[in-house]
Amino acid sequence: MFKYSLKEKWFSMEMHEKCPKCEQTYEPEPGFYFGAMFVSYAFSAAITLVTGFVLYNFFNNPDTWVYMAVVMTAVALLWPAMFKYSRAIFLHLFGGIRFNSKYSS
Ligand SMILES: [Zn+2]
Repeated sequence: MFKYSLKEKWFSMEMHEKCPKCEQTYEPEPGFYFGAMFVSYAFSAAITLVTGFVLYNFFNNPDTWVYMAVVMTAVALLWPAMFKYSRAIFLHLFGGIRFNSKYSS
């Protein structure tokens, strides 16, 4: 779906227009991925909750600015992964694409 994996280029957001193997289009309609923002929001909320839980329980409830700094840093560093996974999840859920074993080999 993306031209480069997270391992190859962490900050590359380039997408293929169509699947190189099966010609499936990756953008069913213009602006399709606006909805992926909500998936990304869920990722951000999860990161915030997990970070808050870890700081509260294992770092003896530090000052508020520490929570803010750690959460913002974690979200900023993980942003490329959230971007890619939220688009993939959104396309899977709402793109009307189903797995076809014909293309798996
Ligand atoms: Zn394909």
